[in-house]
Amino acid sequence: ESQSLQYKRVVLKLSGESLAGSGGRGISGKEMSEIAGQIEQAHRSGCQIAIVIGGGNILRGAQFSGTNALVQEATAHYMGMLATVINSLAMQDAIEALGLDTRVMSAVPVDKIAETFIRRRAIRHLEKGRVIILAAGIGNPFVTTDTAAAQRALEIDADVVLKATRVDGVYSDDPEKNPHAVLYDRLTYREVNEKQLKVMDATAIALCQEHSKPILVFNFKKAGSIVQAISGKTVGTWIGA
Ligand code: UDP
Repeated sequence: ESQSLQYKRVVLKLSGESLAGSGGRGISGKEMSEIAGQIEQAHRSGCQIAIVIGGGNILRGAQFSGTNALVQEATAHYMGMLATVINSLAMQDAIEALGLDTRVMSAVPVDKIAETFIRRRAIRHLEKGRVIILAAGIGNPFVTTDTAAAQRALEIDADVVLKATRVDGVYSDDPEKNPHAVLYDRLTYREVNEKQLKVMDATAIALCQEHSKPILVFNFKKAGSIVQAISGKTVGTWIGA
């Protein structure tokens, strides 16, 4: 096991869009193999990795929040959870193609295609060196997979929530719109709330704050960024107490 490892067990939150090609829809083999390659590197350095995957490249329940919608919003959230199952299966094959052992564990039982999430079994998989891919969020509607990432990080006692984004970390404003936006190295949970910074959804931040679980927001598009993040090198924005 590597001496330089800062975080021995991590929850890696990947948005659905991170698996998508340009336009943010669907699933791209190229994007998936790049991410899988980084996960393989991180795993090789001795880190236990639980991945929580979103479904926004396919569907988000909140899109159906209009009162006139034919599909009820609660229904749509379950559809969103199924979208994360689709992404998880794709990611499983992409990671296994690199020779790693993986398990998909779903919060909504889909027993023909994945195990059901059971906390103690999840921890056992990690201890045996398997990468676990946590699908269907927490299995309840009206929350997102950000909340699931925080919740699972607490449950499996991960050292950190790694939130992968396509910008370098948390900025004072949207860096893709405002060229003067400033990148923060470190923030407290309070600052995130007070400045209303868009990091993860409010429930996720609240859970992490209440249990002092650090969050590291970093740019997964940069080669080697996941390994840098777990080794504690200065990368992205660190959020803690
Ligand atoms: N979702 C849910 N409960 C959960 C996790 C996800 O209802 O515990 C639904 C919710 O509608 C969400 C969708 O699944 O919008 C897809 O997940 P998310 O929006 O977090 O995906 P991302 O933005 O990370 O791609």
